[in-house]
Amino acid sequence: MLKFTESHIQGIGMTSQRTRDRLVQRLRDKGIENEQVLEVMRSMPRHLFVDEALAQRAYEDDALPIGHGQTISQPFIVARMTEILLSRGIPDKVLEVGTGSGFQAAVLSRVVPQVYSVERIVALQIQARELFHKLNFNNITLKHTDGSWGWPQNGPYPAIIVTAAPEQVPEALLEQLAVGGIMIIPVGGQAGGQTLLQITRQADGYVEEKLDGVYFVPLLKGAVRQ
Ligand code: SAH
Repeated sequence: MLKFTESHIQGIGMTSQRTRDRLVQRLRDKGIENEQVLEVMRSMPRHLFVDEALAQRAYEDDALPIGHGQTISQPFIVARMTEILLSRGIPDKVLEVGTGSGFQAAVLSRVVPQVYSVERIVALQIQARELFHKLNFNNITLKHTDGSWGWPQNGPYPAIIVTAAPEQVPEALLEQLAVGGIMIIPVGGQAGGQTLLQITRQADGYVEEKLDGVYFVPLLKGAVRQ
């Protein structure tokens, strides 16, 4: 499998650096302050994480379809969740539930030494794996599984990020969060609205803080081969 050339990664026209710089300015205007996160958002070729037909729109601040009824998250949400996840310092590893296009995992991989990411739709997982290989992102480990169960073998995790919304925080993820660790997770149904939660684990229990109102695809049960 061939690696991407610089010109693939740099992009042209609507995928060029100028277009990306405009997106980063938007993220600043919306309140993202972490310079490391902004720099990663500036350099990450989001156009390679979406279908070629949508590449022109890759640097707009919108979620986009990635097939299988799923979406690549809006850049602002990716930046915001990453910024919060790093707010207590850089964790040595992070667990992501919901690999999808791989964009959030790719962003994390430029800041955190080791990223573990799980996805229930095997086709998306395979596509993300190929993309990481072509981009030479070697510190992301993927697994095809129902992420409600987490990935206990590599835990406990100082940081967990969930990019699909369950009705309630899965017990297994709470268990796999290290003491002193932080989890960012959207919770709630599809109709009633969802809330982004920040959960920190302390020696004597969990502290939950409500952040923004958000809209994510649902966290579904079971791993599927489609
Ligand atoms: N982080 C992704 C967002 C993709 S949308 C990105 O940057 O593109 C959320 C993803 O979560 C979808 O791909 C969906 O298939 C996946 N998902 C939903 N329920 C899941 C579950 N129980 N376990 C693992 N992945 C799940």
